[in-house]
Amino acid sequence: MDITKLSALEIKKHIKSGEVTCEEVTRVFISKILENKKYNAVLEVFDDAVENAKAMDIKIKDGFNGKLAGVPIIIKDNILYSGKICSCGSKFMKDYIAQYNSTVVKRMLDEGAIIIARANMDEFAMGSSTENSAFGVAHNPIDFERVAGGSSGGSACAVALDMCPIALGTETGGSVRQPASFCGIYGLKPSYGRISRYGVVAFASSLDQVGIFSKTLEDNALMLEVIAGGDNNDETSSKTKVDDYLSEIDKDSTNITIGVPKEIIEMVKGLPCEVNFHNFIKVIKDNNIKTKDISIKDVGLGLATYYILAPAEAASNLAKFDGVKYTSRDNNAKNLQEIYKKSRSKGFGKEVKRRIMLGNYVLSSGYYDAYYKKAKAVQGLLIEEYEKAFDECDIIIMPTTLGEAYKIGSKPNDPVETYKEDIFTVTANIVGIPSLSIPYGKGKEGLPLGIQIMSKKFNEKTIYSFAKTIEKIVKKED
Ligand code: GLN
Repeated sequence: MDITKLSALEIKKHIKSGEVTCEEVTRVFISKILENKKYNAVLEVFDDAVENAKAMDIKIKDGFNGKLAGVPIIIKDNILYSGKICSCGSKFMKDYIAQYNSTVVKRMLDEGAIIIARANMDEFAMGSSTENSAFGVAHNPIDFERVAGGSSGGSACAVALDMCPIALGTETGGSVRQPASFCGIYGLKPSYGRISRYGVVAFASSLDQVGIFSKTLEDNALMLEVIAGGDNNDETSSKTKVDDYLSEIDKDSTNITIGVPKEIIEMVKGLPCEVNFHNFIKVIKDNNIKTKDISIKDVGLGLATYYILAPAEAASNLAKFDGVKYTSRDNNAKNLQEIYKKSRSKGFGKEVKRRIMLGNYVLSSGYYDAYYKKAKAVQGLLIEEYEKAFDECDIIIMPTTLGEAYKIGSKPNDPVETYKEDIFTVTANIVGIPSLSIPYGKGKEGLPLGIQIMSKKFNEKTIYSFAKTIEKIVKKED
């Protein structure tokens, strides 16, 4: 039995039955990480993982039956795990040690997870390819010459290469769904407020959420059950009831209506994802699932809106990284002003600096009305348009990415070309709804593609059960 091929649920079962120990499982996954070092998906394997696994074996023997009992997990490098480095993919933070556990880490540990490593990411989660990581790019698990996606590229690659069954990433504008699509796995961005962000380094606070990577839908649902729910340490987290995502996954969802936005049909014309998206629509229709043409008039404005709101919030969130706290200091600085200036100039990478400048620009007094205020108005419009759209359907679908994973270093110097990659993912963050990227189909070059399944806020259970219906259909057709 190759343990690394198993789902988290299966691993848990095998440990419980005594077929394998948690220690063995942990060691096997760590070996897998080391074997695949060249992919640069993982920045650090935690040296106490095996010890923690041994302790877990004793606990399990004593009857502990947590939802993740003995399951190895990898976390993105911007999620605090007490006593471990959390560098956000930045050399500015390379020595920063987390002083406490984020709520997601605490909840996973309470359910028996073994957190084995931290994953590579674009610096401060800004990027779509992990090429902005100060520690080098994470490679695509299927084609080494290509990107794994980003910003949570390391987490996605790790799951796809069986370094762990489930990994956590974060999302501000697609950073879980896009790499999931490029790596051929599931990636969930939950509703805004569904998961506490306490102890997760902020990028753009009105958009950020923790997200979940997995090879199976069931594992995804299991993890959401563990980490979702209100948290007194995060006032933006919602107290809305956490559903039994896992047990409801097989609920029949053939009587729901799938909305296909006509604007998305226009947008995909000529794009590499076009054929696959139409295939998907055909497959659901052929299986007697009702589809409906809907309209989200301003969906195309999402991208510009995102690239105003996200940098604006980032400029403010990143002000605390100043060479005094958290970050490394430039030793040549002679006074406080110089500490800020020199440390930040040296510490931040090019893309992060660009975002901070852009953010301060759109917030500055002469431009606030023209950019930030306008973007907030468009956000309001989009929220209304999605709400109206969901009056007519239960699920909205669209492609996750423009096409397959691209070659490392192939994007031109113009950053806007890379930003355009996010056109289909950013609106879910802007309006706060959940969206799951499911692996579906392949592109011209044989690499995976993804389809997004979106629903109303806090309706992740409908997403999972519809995704399950699709999975069954695909299996039947194979
Ligand atoms: N690619 C987007 C950006 O660069 C999204 C990043 C994210 O979701 N963290 O901002």
